Amino acid sequence: MSYTPPDPLQYNFCPSCGDRLVVHDDGERHQPHCRRCRRFFYHNPVPATCCFVRRDDGALLLVRRGVEPCKGEWSLPGGFMEVGENPEESARRELFEETGLRGGRFRLIGASARPSAISGAILVLGYLVEGWEGELRAGSDVSEVRFYALADRPNLVFTVHRDLLETYDALFP
Ligand SMILES: [Zn+2]
Repeated sequence: MSYTPPDPLQYNFCPSCGDRLVVHDDGERHQPHCRRCRRFFYHNPVPATCCFVRRDDGALLLVRRGVEPCKGEWSLPGGFMEVGENPEESARRELFEETGLRGGRFRLIGASARPSAISGAILVLGYLVEGWEGELRAGSDVSEVRFYALADRPNLVFTVHRDLLETYDALFP
């Protein structure tokens, strides 16, 4: 008999009581449900933020990923939100952790959601950082930080970042 591993992105067992979940109609669609706890388990996109730091000459700050997934590839500074943070606080924390810069004002410029191999789906909020201070350094999870002029910009590895970059480029041509 062959073993079929459970879908790692799908809830198969109740995280509270350990019972096997059964797909059940929640009134709108079928979702994993625990009969004992009388609770549905929804699989929603994971929220994250990213930052657009623009130098006076128009160059944009990018970070080179120092960890998997996509180690060695370029992306915008940013990352996953933590419980207890609001999105702006999350963007501010990630910017400092990865680049050493303390952002001034964070202005929301767009949002994008895409399927993700790791979490199922991801929702990213893009912030324009207006004013910043500090010394640029490659921080946690990052091997290099650099400002790039439009003509030299490397390809961004994440589709959600490319979506938001389009919004940014339309706002600041
Ligand atoms: Zn349960």
